[in-house]
Amino acid sequence: MSKPIVAVVGRPNVGKSTLFNHLAGQQISIVKDTPGVTRDRIYAEVSWLDKNFTLIDTGGIEPETKDIILAQMREQAQIAIDTADVIIFITDVRQGLVDADAKVADMLRRSHKPVVLVVNKVDNFEKLMPDVYEFYNLGIGDPIPISAVGKLGIGEMLDEIVKHFPEDTQEDGEDDRPKIAIVGKPNVGKSSIINKMVGEQRVIVSDIAGTTRDAIDTPVVYNGREYVFIDTAGLRRKSKIKEELERYSIIRTVAAVERADVVILVIDATEGVTEQDAKIAGIAHERGKGMIIAVNKWDAIEKNDKTIYEHTQKIKDTLSFMPYAELLFVSAKTGQRLNKIYDMIDMVIESQTMRIPTGVLNEILTEAVAMQQPPSDKGKRLRIYYMTQVAVKPPTFVMFVNDKELTHFSYTRYIENKIREAFGFRGTALRFINRERK
Ligand code: GDP
Ligand code: GDP
Repeated sequence: MSKPIVAVVGRPNVGKSTLFNHLAGQQISIVKDTPGVTRDRIYAEVSWLDKNFTLIDTGGIEPETKDIILAQMREQAQIAIDTADVIIFITDVRQGLVDADAKVADMLRRSHKPVVLVVNKVDNFEKLMPDVYEFYNLGIGDPIPISAVGKLGIGEMLDEIVKHFPEDTQEDGEDDRPKIAIVGKPNVGKSSIINKMVGEQRVIVSDIAGTTRDAIDTPVVYNGREYVFIDTAGLRRKSKIKEELERYSIIRTVAAVERADVVILVIDATEGVTEQDAKIAGIAHERGKGMIIAVNKWDAIEKNDKTIYEHTQKIKDTLSFMPYAELLFVSAKTGQRLNKIYDMIDMVIESQTMRIPTGVLNEILTEAVAMQQPPSDKGKRLRIYYMTQVAVKPPTFVMFVNDKELTHFSYTRYIENKIREAFGFRGTALRFINRERK
């Protein structure tokens, strides 16, 4: 089941980052420490009561003039409308209600998305409450007073947010159509690939603002099987503000990947694999999604008999954290190998949902342990009593061990490799959980 997405929208200086950092707590998104690109946090995982959600900060660059502020806020709001299940609209009691707030509120109201109106910097509820009532004029519901700095009203705000989450519906669980997100940097050819793969079907897609996310999804029938391409409208909409492009592409990626079973990462063959590709791949890896890498524009490069090998090596090096990713060299322009993507999606889905019986799994484990001893520390050796698969999508294994302290990343990797040798699991991440058994 995919996690709900909550997006934060508001003018500069109302306290978006302060609130975001408080809610995000210690969780650090992979974006943060990646050099060269956006340094601030863009998304974070948040838990409140028994609910988990992905929080997205749509705010970006510092604006220079009033005009830019409004244009930027509209972009932010649009991104939130496209991607979020719930939108937090933050205003500032100190600055009061300003014209830009009213304009953005109109936009949000028309979208029919659930909006939680938050009035920040209410550091003293008794004294400042009268100033909060003014925000009723926005016409998007009851203003919720908070102080992001003073950590006041945060619980009430979170209660209001989670109220709007879609119920865990049965329907969602019964929908077994593979959901596919096509992601990648701008201009690598995502839209071109979608266009070719979806063909005529795409005309059906509605582009009216405020249509629900399901309406944006594009179902496609191929070889008698139905596939759903996620969020293609979001892909088509391009930011007018250049600096925002990268932030928005990451936000869209997180939103699309969250709902996908299989992610197709498109890389531009003429440019080669880059750090930014790795960052985007990381979003899918963190979430345990199926992974296909489509190296596009294969028509546009000069090739000899080593070209495929060289590209493969470079990609394996740069994306070394996901050796399981499937690779395909394609061209949206000529259509070369695009149809193979469907077969690959089927194969990856099969891997993601494969269950290995405990008995067979432990034969592999016993053999692996016999071939290479588990690590030891201060005279005490790791013992793995047995393992069992506890989940699919991604396949997740629990290993029962004598002492968790003795487990080591490289040994887990070794076991993972043995499991992959035996069962394949091509195109999907695997998860391992160590549990102590005394
Ligand atoms: P953003 O531009 O919307 O991300 O706003 P920031 O989070 O950077 O906050 C802008 C300024 O408002 C900073 O100086 C914050 O310390 C301050 N600020 C944020 N929240 C509060 C609050 O609850 N009360 C007060 N008094 N100041 C706040
Ligand atoms: P997106 O931003 O990732 O959706 O990329 P687009 O689909 O808009 O493509 C960006 C540019 O690359 C366009 O000018 C396309 O015509 C071009 N392009 C896309 N796929 C291919 C391809 O397979 N071969 C070549 N030569 N050009 C391509």
